[in-house]
Amino acid sequence: MGSGSDTSKRQRAGEFALIERYFAPLAAQAEGTFGLHNDAAVLPVAAGERLIATVDTMIQGRHFLDCPPDLVARKLLRVNLSDLAAMGAEPFGYLLASAWPLDIEEDWIAEFSRGLAADQAIYGIGLYGGDTTGTPGPMTLSLTAFGKVAAGEGVLDRGSVAAGDDFYVTGTIGDAWLGLLALRGELEGLDADSRASLIGRYRLPEPRMAAGRALLTEGLARSALDVSDGLAADLGHLLEASGVGAEIELAAVPVGEAARAALALRQLPPQALLSGGDDYELLFAAPPDRRDAVAALSRRLGLPIARIGRARAERGLVVRGADGAEVALEKPGWTHF
Ligand SMILES: [Mg+2]
Repeated sequence: MGSGSDTSKRQRAGEFALIERYFAPLAAQAEGTFGLHNDAAVLPVAAGERLIATVDTMIQGRHFLDCPPDLVARKLLRVNLSDLAAMGAEPFGYLLASAWPLDIEEDWIAEFSRGLAADQAIYGIGLYGGDTTGTPGPMTLSLTAFGKVAAGEGVLDRGSVAAGDDFYVTGTIGDAWLGLLALRGELEGLDADSRASLIGRYRLPEPRMAAGRALLTEGLARSALDVSDGLAADLGHLLEASGVGAEIELAAVPVGEAARAALALRQLPPQALLSGGDDYELLFAAPPDRRDAVAALSRRLGLPIARIGRARAERGLVVRGADGAEVALEKPGWTHF
């Protein structure tokens, strides 16, 4: 695990001490990390396996503001795991590059590392290395996650949707976006339970690892992604990559109770949820002859999987209301830029 060359004086421990105290213990269970004392990581990939890698960066003030440090850590890890789930990969480890503001309290880093430890236990993964440095700018955290698939399994590729395929989505849509509105004080008057539930969905997504893996290994889905920019925008990405269009039934898009309460409070139409972000649910396409198998998977995992529409040869995304009329979307999706 490398260390930045920044030698400016500061109250907290130096970079090597931070690694020793908070990050080396996270690598204790990871095969081949040698206590992080080497210059690079040795990843355990066997013959006949394919390594799947993804990276995401979170910057304080842009991707998170006043969030408990352990939840910042877990979200950073989980958004990456969600990307692995969307490919059908089994996760096993990650690299962490962290740039800490010069005046950060060491307690913040300690709490951050405890968040990572908690999720490592849940997902059965370990830290394989990374980089730790100080920065005069905002806290910047970049995590690279690794998963694997068997060589013969292929992956769930975005560009493989065929006209006639069904589109499905796991869980419920729009909660995280509403959670962000609640944190911004834009859902005053919402009952406490709904508020807590929506904020929880924003701060701590649940990557659909088992579903993604089953969609690949059981040959259920042709194509998948995890919804991070908003259902409409991400569906657009699938359509673009596959060269097809889609027709979605608004009434079939799964909406939770807390989200319904929030929509009613703000007098927002349900299609507003299609433009929210941060769901980290799986959106996937499957041939119509897989409907029973997808329903069986949903029951087996105890995870709602809703069929929301179908792909068609004609390009473009059409969303239809219960009366069959086309529904206009206000904006295609969330953007960080
Ligand atoms: Mg993604």
